[in-house]
Amino acid sequence: MYDTQSGWNNHINSCIDSYLRFEVSINSSISGSTNNYSDSYFYNFICTENRNSSESGRSSKRTRKNFNDFHEEVESDFHEEVEFHEEVESDFHEEVESDFHEEVEFHEEVESNDFNEEVESDFNEEVESDFNEEVESDFNEEVESDFNEEVESDFNEEVEFHEEVEFHEEVESDFHEEVESNDFNINQKYKHLWVQCENCYGLNYKKFFKSKMNICEQCGYHLKMSSSDRIELSIDPGTWDPLDKDMISIDPIDFRSKEEPYGDRIDSYQRRTGLADAIQTGIGQINGIPVAIGVMDFQFMGGSMGSVVGEKITRLIEYATNRSLPVIIVCASGGARMQEGSLSLMQMAKISSASSNYQSDKKLFYVSILTSPTTGGVTASFGMLGDIIIAEPNAYIAFAGKRVIEQTLKKVIPEGSQVSEYLFHKGLFDPIVPRNLLKGVLGELFQLHGFFPLNPSSKM
Ligand SMILES: [Zn+2]
Repeated sequence: MYDTQSGWNNHINSCIDSYLRFEVSINSSISGSTNNYSDSYFYNFICTENRNSSESGRSSKRTRKNFNDFHEEVESDFHEEVEFHEEVESDFHEEVESDFHEEVEFHEEVESNDFNEEVESDFNEEVESDFNEEVESDFNEEVESDFNEEVESDFNEEVEFHEEVEFHEEVESDFHEEVESNDFNINQKYKHLWVQCENCYGLNYKKFFKSKMNICEQCGYHLKMSSSDRIELSIDPGTWDPLDKDMISIDPIDFRSKEEPYGDRIDSYQRRTGLADAIQTGIGQINGIPVAIGVMDFQFMGGSMGSVVGEKITRLIEYATNRSLPVIIVCASGGARMQEGSLSLMQMAKISSASSNYQSDKKLFYVSILTSPTTGGVTASFGMLGDIIIAEPNAYIAFAGKRVIEQTLKKVIPEGSQVSEYLFHKGLFDPIVPRNLLKGVLGELFQLHGFFPLNPSSKM
């Protein structure tokens, strides 16, 4: 209300003055003449006193006395009031200050609680989700250390930011205890549920991974796909009719290595994969269009091309030639199978010959699809003979592998020089098509080349 003490004093004094003036003027009007009333109460007082000294001396004295009494009274009132004000003010200040402190304390408390909960819950969520994923994965050393580094670094960043070192240590030790207590058995128990990406080491839930065509959800990397999965997802349901599915390899050159006889190796791969050899061939429909298709399988001895692979492809092409079907061959191979010696190399010529008849003489349409890896004799023959050659993204495509070249020529192969994106710019093949779009692209290509769906309603 009043800026300073002196301001307050001035106000009080002026109040006293106006009160006195009022009092004096009443007294004078009672005791003296109303005609002599003037604006200045001092003047009035003096004049009245002088003029009415004889008449109203008593009255003047009383007035004077009244004034003094009143002044003292008012002054003491004023002082009491001032003291009261000070008291109230100080009380108010204390109250406000204490309120403020409480509030600040409350805020600090709330903030610290919030922070702890937030950090803890964030961390727990992160750790739990990462942890669960990781626990259920292949817990090899590399993964474990990657995981720990990742979690630790994420966690450190967060904690350093908030400068909560103690909390960090506590949670970290809790976490490590948790990891140790959830021991190896759990990892083994849930390992079969997850597929780890070769590129980003992210985990993909196996249940959905196949329907996503083995494409990593995290980074889009195209992981290897078994021939059976590819047939199931590429060919219209119920239209697959395999050719020569029981053709198996013998041991034509009686190949013996330090490990195990070739015949035994074939047996073990057959048991492991459920396949007769490294390729499945057959007839099926793609969006209603009948096609002859061969799909190589890298799981079977690295997709190596022996006499069975060569013979099956040759028969497929001959079948397609006779029925004027388009041919698709999905390549995935480490090259010719050394256990069959030069018989493997002869497959290149045999397939090329059948392909020449199919493509040049019959003017039919062959599409080769290069997946990772496509190398050696496969690249050197039917891989590169397609009328349209399609590659998958980030596929390793080469004739001789990086290691072989470096050991033979003693020269370093530049990183990425045998990957489809690089080779595309060198004109080695036609388009790079992501796996999930491949079926649509093939359907379109066949229609452009005069192959139409049997049932028009099944058109894309
Ligand atoms: Zn990935």
